[in-house]
Amino acid sequence: MPSNFIEDFIEEDIATERFARPICTRFPPEPNGYLHIGHAKAICIDFGAARKYGGRCHLRYDDTNPVKEDVEYVDAIEDDVRWLGFEWDGLYYASDYFEKMYECAERLIEKGLAYVDDQSAEEISATRGTLTQPGTASPWRERGKDENLALFREMRDGKYADGEKVLRAKIDMASPNINLRDPVIYRIAHAAHHRTGEAWCVYPMYDYAHPLEDAIEDVTHSLCTLEFEDHRPLYDWVLEALDWPRPPRQIEFARLGLTRTLMSKRYLKQLVDDGAVEGWDDPRMPTIAGIRRRGYTPEAVRAFCEEIGVAKANSTVDIAMLEHFVREDLKARCDSRNVIFDPVKVVVTNYPEGASELVPMENNRDCPERGERLVPFSRELWIDGEDFLESPPPKYFRLFPGNEVRFKGAYFLTCTDVVKDANGRVAEVHCTYDPLTKSGSGFEGRKVKGTIHWVDAATAVPVTVREYGYLMNDEEGGSQTLNPDSLSVRTCMAEPAAAEALPGERFQFFRHGYYVADAKLSSAEPGGARVFNQIVGLKSSWKG
Ligand code: ATP
Ligand code: MG
Repeated sequence: MPSNFIEDFIEEDIATERFARPICTRFPPEPNGYLHIGHAKAICIDFGAARKYGGRCHLRYDDTNPVKEDVEYVDAIEDDVRWLGFEWDGLYYASDYFEKMYECAERLIEKGLAYVDDQSAEEISATRGTLTQPGTASPWRERGKDENLALFREMRDGKYADGEKVLRAKIDMASPNINLRDPVIYRIAHAAHHRTGEAWCVYPMYDYAHPLEDAIEDVTHSLCTLEFEDHRPLYDWVLEALDWPRPPRQIEFARLGLTRTLMSKRYLKQLVDDGAVEGWDDPRMPTIAGIRRRGYTPEAVRAFCEEIGVAKANSTVDIAMLEHFVREDLKARCDSRNVIFDPVKVVVTNYPEGASELVPMENNRDCPERGERLVPFSRELWIDGEDFLESPPPKYFRLFPGNEVRFKGAYFLTCTDVVKDANGRVAEVHCTYDPLTKSGSGFEGRKVKGTIHWVDAATAVPVTVREYGYLMNDEEGGSQTLNPDSLSVRTCMAEPAAAEALPGERFQFFRHGYYVADAKLSSAEPGGARVFNQIVGLKSSWKG
């Protein structure tokens, strides 16, 4: 694995014995939604660094905001991290540190480094100043320690309503970094918390809580996304103000953005709440739960994350690149199945009525070790609508009247005529087969230019196939809108083996793409209803 700037920092810290403790990282999701592919990048970086340096990586729920959080999300996050192939060295909840964080806040007050402010949120934000103008001190900034302590205790005891008072760090109202202009570190919220219930009505703010969570857990490297770079001075300030020995080091990396992809839990939740998708695990969703149901593999997602690396500048990656990694990973992993889209009936007029035979079909052309299966062939077959044209354009090598093509794994067939229904649509394509051309017989008499796939009509099973477009359209100017045509469902005719697919099993549908038996909608019964999700097409549009 090539080294990157995060690893360079870690190696430097190991060499200088900066921490005098083993390397420890953490993945700290806020349980307010399902994880998405952007989180997968963070997970690979956090767990990957710990693995590489023989350290630990914690899974920590950053659950300091009582209102938005839910146990449903907590459970989903664990499934998702495990699915990606990582196991945490400890499961933590930031809410377990509420008492400790509160004590630290009292210590700041005692040191004259925090004060209770009676101003409203609007007043505080109006007096923060701008990039060019310093902020204005609160009239409560010079309150005495004892008064601050008494007021803060009253805040905790529930004496005040939401928003009536806050605790602010006393840093520098003129700092060029606005985050250091006496940031609010505690607010009042009379809200039940998913774990601590009604025990607290004051909650710590992220910028105060996060460094403490890291420090309490003996984290050494707190890896986060670039938007926290300007908050790092505050991260360091909190731990220094509390004389924390050998405090953790925050390092920022670029957020992952993908074309045609909405990457924010808040907006993804809105799609779920609005019913625009079937749920957090809808196969069109960029959530880990969605891409898992879509049939992506954890190996492909990890390989993709490794390839995009840990750039220091935010950038948007072409979704085709992710699809490329999925396709590459599936190539050697799946057996092939014949599945017919827009079926057209072929009648082999010189094949004996009532007869049938089993022809061997390779499971994966590139992996002979995946073996063969036997596929029935008889007088009536289904072929893809696209593989027959009554009046073909030049260079069309598939079936048309008078033309001979190879039916893969079986025989050469020549189209003799077309039978139409009352509406003039093709009802049956009549062909003759040449018994001498049997596949595998060594026949070398003639060459044909086209090879098509087929299924035996007598034994074919109907399957539901769900094909996906992108959920979002990228608009000029960077915004995204919902694509109204992101799902199409059709019934296809499949060879019998497709009906035995296990929920979650992946296949290449020959000449069509990669598909997975939907884990939720497919029956677990042999021969029961099968619903397949399109994973990716066969052709890459990624210009790597
Ligand atoms: P969202 O805006 O989607 O809710 P978030 O950053 O608020 O994302 P958190 O639950 O706070 O989500 O994130 C947990 C970790 O995942 C954080 O360290 C965060 O920096 C990282 N992360 C979130 N989104 C991305 C992304 N698109 N690319 C890389 N890392 C991400
Ligand atoms: Mg968040």
